[in-house]
Amino acid sequence: MRDTWSSEFDNQANQMWMARAQEVLPGGVNSPVRAFRAVGGSPIFVARAEGAYLHGVDGRRYIDYVGSWGPMILGHAAPEVVRAVQEAMTRGSSYGAPTSAEVEYAELITQLVPSIEMLRMTSSGTEAVMGALRVARGFTGRDLIVKFEGCYHGGADYLLVQAGSGLATFGVPTSAGVPAAIGGTTLVLPFNDLEAARALFAQRGKEIAALILEPVVGNMGVVPPEPGFLEGLRAITEEHGSLLVFDEVMTGFRVALGGAQALYGVTPDLSCFGKIVGGGLPVGVYGGRREIMQKVAPLGPVYQAGTLSGNPLAVAAGRATLEALRAPGVYEVLEQRSARLEAGLREVSKRCRVPVTLQRVGSMITPFFAAGPIRTWTDADRADRAAFGKWHAAMIHEGVHWPPAQFEAGFVSLAHTEAILDATIDAAGHAFAKV
Ligand SMILES: *Cc1c(COP(=O)(O)O)cnc(C)c1O
Repeated sequence: MRDTWSSEFDNQANQMWMARAQEVLPGGVNSPVRAFRAVGGSPIFVARAEGAYLHGVDGRRYIDYVGSWGPMILGHAAPEVVRAVQEAMTRGSSYGAPTSAEVEYAELITQLVPSIEMLRMTSSGTEAVMGALRVARGFTGRDLIVKFEGCYHGGADYLLVQAGSGLATFGVPTSAGVPAAIGGTTLVLPFNDLEAARALFAQRGKEIAALILEPVVGNMGVVPPEPGFLEGLRAITEEHGSLLVFDEVMTGFRVALGGAQALYGVTPDLSCFGKIVGGGLPVGVYGGRREIMQKVAPLGPVYQAGTLSGNPLAVAAGRATLEALRAPGVYEVLEQRSARLEAGLREVSKRCRVPVTLQRVGSMITPFFAAGPIRTWTDADRADRAAFGKWHAAMIHEGVHWPPAQFEAGFVSLAHTEAILDATIDAAGHAFAKV
């Protein structure tokens, strides 16, 4: 569904590549959301990226708020990251043997995130979550996992579930290919509802290995935890001997140097990282309390492995990124710039009388095309997807690459200067006028 003003710039280069892509890749992509199915139109095929900009094969330049879905907090092709990866590459790209660099990187992460005493590296966030939950099950000797509706934790079978009917229910698979029995090892709760969590644990607490959540949800659009929610979950899990697992794949090193756990002052038993921790290369990390991580093979009985885990290029990119983020004032700058974007978007949407609720934590921001506040998936689900789709197409037209789905976060990077943000706000004003 496209109207005339969007199709005029949907130029031939993107469409030609999309046509070729669809012959050899399901939906033309290697990860579903990239296909623009939620908004319509053809995705921009990227030729290169630099700073806050993507350059399309269509010859146009776009201000980018996808940022590879989170990793590019320094901006694209940040010189310090490029240099680190080039240097690492000359020493060989993978050995299948330990390196001093991965030890130093692990030490750095344990310094920046005090709840992590010991960690294991993987090649993706999905694997990090799977590793964390396996060790949670191995450590507690229990089978059930609790998750929240609207939180995304990667592609593991037992996490591709949503709530069935009722308050706290066994997960119903949201993907074909997931057996009901596997979905049934996961229980699903509404986000920001402490009472529902309390009731579930009162009933089944002894069977629950872990409760996992995005401490700030990014994957239903940005939904912050209400005051007391994280603290309450910490208390409930502790009381029932279940582990509290923070999936900080998106929030880690994003909302604060120490992640959401530093921002809100709540300490999980295990944490998962990805995205920024790999500086744009494929990395995941899971870790936490020493006595738990000591269950991981070869030290303990919980098996988990990876041929490219701790890959030297990925470690180099991740280290260069975290070192840059440690510089004083970095998160203050990100906060100021992101607040400027939020205020600007709010103003132009009001001026155009488009009912939009802006929700933001640090440099993660979502314009919900719905009345706020958005506290749960039920709230988010009320958003006007068609209006978002029109706005998104208009943003692309204006040269802004906003995430192509309503229930996603846009990411501000250090490369988004005030001038670039102001240009974005102008573009958004034009786009809201077309909704
Ligand atoms: C992206 C994401 C994942 C999955 O990470 P991949 O690297 O895509 O496997 C898991 N959890 C959260 C919160 C994420 O945002």
